[in-house]
Amino acid sequence: TICPSCRQPITTEIVYRMGRLTFLLSAAMCCVGCNMGCCLIPFFMKRFKDVDHYCPCCRFHIYRYNRL
Ligand SMILES: [Zn+2]
Repeated sequence: TICPSCRQPITTEIVYRMGRLTFLLSAAMCCVGCNMGCCLIPFFMKRFKDVDHYCPCCRFHIYRYNRL
């Protein structure tokens, strides 16, 4: 992709973040009664997290991939 800030052809740097879906999933699992640590599982599952894309050159925040 091309960085909109520094106009360099770059590969975005990916940062995983806690998203609303991460919290909703853990809350839902707790409600189901699976609270023997299972409610923490989504916090370690990258595919349920929001993803921020940054330019590795100028640290510009290009976009956020939101799960919801
Ligand atoms: Zn840049």
